[in-house]
Amino acid sequence: MNKDLHDHPVQFVRGIGPGKARLLARLGIKTVADALFHIPYRYEDRRRSCRIADLRHEVLQSVTGKVISAEIVNTPRKRMKIFELVIGDGTGFLRGKWFNQPYMKKLLTPGKMVVLSGVVRRDPYSGAGFEMQNPEYEVLSDDPDRDNIHTLRIVPVYRTTAGLGAKALRAMMYSIVGFASPLIEEYLPGEILERYGLPPLGEACMHIHFPPDGTDLDSLNRGVSPYHRRLAFEELYLLQTGLAVLKKGRGGERGISFASAAGRLADRLEDMVPFRLTDAQQRVFREIHEDMRSPRPMNRLLQGDVGSGKTIVALKAMLVAVEAGYQAALMAPTEILSEQHYLNIHGLVEGLGLRCVLLTGGRREKPLKEIASGDVQIIVGTHALIQEDVSFHRLGLVVIDEQHRFGVMQRAMLRKKGLNPDVLVMTATPIPRTLSLTLYGDLDYSVIDELPPRRKQVITRLFREQDKGGLYGFIRSEIKKGRQAYIVYPMIEESEKTPLRSAVPGKEAFDRVFPEFRTGLIHGRMRQDEREGVMEAFKNGEIDILVSTTVVEVGVDVPNATLMLIVHAERFGLSQLHQLRGRVGRGPHQSYCFLLAYGKLSDEARRRLDVMVRHTDGFRIAEEDFMIRGPGEFFGTRQSGMPDLKVANLIRDARLLGIARKESFETVERDPDLSGHPLLRDRVERFWRGKIEIFRTS
Ligand code: ADP
Ligand code: MG
Repeated sequence: MNKDLHDHPVQFVRGIGPGKARLLARLGIKTVADALFHIPYRYEDRRRSCRIADLRHEVLQSVTGKVISAEIVNTPRKRMKIFELVIGDGTGFLRGKWFNQPYMKKLLTPGKMVVLSGVVRRDPYSGAGFEMQNPEYEVLSDDPDRDNIHTLRIVPVYRTTAGLGAKALRAMMYSIVGFASPLIEEYLPGEILERYGLPPLGEACMHIHFPPDGTDLDSLNRGVSPYHRRLAFEELYLLQTGLAVLKKGRGGERGISFASAAGRLADRLEDMVPFRLTDAQQRVFREIHEDMRSPRPMNRLLQGDVGSGKTIVALKAMLVAVEAGYQAALMAPTEILSEQHYLNIHGLVEGLGLRCVLLTGGRREKPLKEIASGDVQIIVGTHALIQEDVSFHRLGLVVIDEQHRFGVMQRAMLRKKGLNPDVLVMTATPIPRTLSLTLYGDLDYSVIDELPPRRKQVITRLFREQDKGGLYGFIRSEIKKGRQAYIVYPMIEESEKTPLRSAVPGKEAFDRVFPEFRTGLIHGRMRQDEREGVMEAFKNGEIDILVSTTVVEVGVDVPNATLMLIVHAERFGLSQLHQLRGRVGRGPHQSYCFLLAYGKLSDEARRRLDVMVRHTDGFRIAEEDFMIRGPGEFFGTRQSGMPDLKVANLIRDARLLGIARKESFETVERDPDLSGHPLLRDRVERFWRGKIEIFRTS
């Protein structure tokens, strides 16, 4: 779309003006582009006009006829004015009634041709004639150039707001779309449009709002008409082009080459752990090592289901950096998780004669000094590590563990700090491929698609409150065998606002149920050293039952724990449930995940729990989650720094996304800063505006 048109305020479109513009602003529509992307949420078929003689009771129909009479009838009892209209079409008469809209008498005068569209009812008194109450209406013009907007066509239905009715909004949209569409310049190469059967942009903008009569109604309502596809493609293409430019731009940057590291430290690490890396782990490490050796900065996503063994791979990569004389940082989304990582790796790291620190909210002074002086090589912490005033001696590699919470934006921030380390983002699946293509679409991609051997599938069962007794018996027998259990609650303490069960009283209750066992409690409001103490004790087998909140959701690794009980499982999201379940099944013993649900379950909760019982594969669960919640919810794209998609739907339009990605990456390959494609460049810049600077100005 052309520059000026895009930002053209709707106020200046003929037929709009300041008053209507104010109404439109309530819907977030300020510019022509806003209006074009305010697409109908449904379409109504008013193409056919019915003869009055053929009308059917209680069916939505349209009728064209001549106004025979029009008058206002007063009903003294209800103090209401009813405008009554009678039209005829030669086959019969139809009465229309509108309440308290006396001004209509001026619009619908006898002799005019009008169309009424609404639900037809047999006249309740005479039982003979037909009437419509509050139908939509339109006066047909003698002017053949003036189109009908509200009737005798496929009619768009928009989301409206107080003070702005459906019909008024539709008329405004007609003015704006009619003004803008013919002016819209196409910038996609004709061959792309042709190859995928996409109409030109201007045509799509017009017809997504006011489809021609021949359009398949069902495809419109499902959002897959050619016009929807073109606009969805538009968004996906701009999204992917931005990612392609970011990625390509980084390709030309100079990063660090860790070529001097032969990988000896990493090999020694492997000798220290009691298992052999799986083929998938080895392959992924080779991919990472390759990137690290090259002088261009690494930006790689490592995907691997919960328990697939990402940590050891990351640690090997960190040791490559250290061997070449750099520092490496491991960042996690929560303090607890970074504490866990620290506990898991510091022994190994120190066994290699290196130093490792945990940097969190508390004790900071000494570690900060050691980080700045280069006395420590491996640094573990939350992403405060890169946001705050931490200065590194020589940061070479950043590993970001777990979560979608770390997006393109944060990575851009790292670079802004003048650091250009290699970056490895790790995530425990819950990202379907289509989403990782957008959220992480500028990254290279590795996947550990194999679990360590001899893992037994976790047995998952759903329990209701009344089945609790049997559940406790089972927990007792497992612990008697020497195993350990997690019991997870949605909240720390009771609150007046919700009747949910919670961890603190939960622990007391379990102390009473299991007086013979040692229980422990851990949650996010405890002091860090208390938490560390509890986790250490659980790891060492000094605690049998660990009662907690979701702080154990990610990263915690205690192979002897075989039982996970999730209280109020109906309150948790799918990816959370999957993460929690991932805490067990880490050792050689059969493990169990019990979902304890309370109260009447919503349909959605039932679906989630059902998915958990039936599936253990993280990819599969992610897809299901995505289906249940839809892409917007899946993980707030807003906080991840992604532009909003208004037309495209990542599930429905997965194929289009693939095409958009292929085409955009090809274009950027040939023209890295799009200097040969000025219109496209302008559109990409606007699409990403306020999120990331796609094109560097330096
Ligand atoms: P995640 O990918 O979920 O972060 P971790 O890295 O925490 O998984 O690994 C899960 C568990 O599996 C840890 O106890 C780890 O020591 C162990 N592990 C990792 N790789 C292997 C392997 N190749 N063989 C056996 N156990 C492994
Ligand atoms: Mg992990």
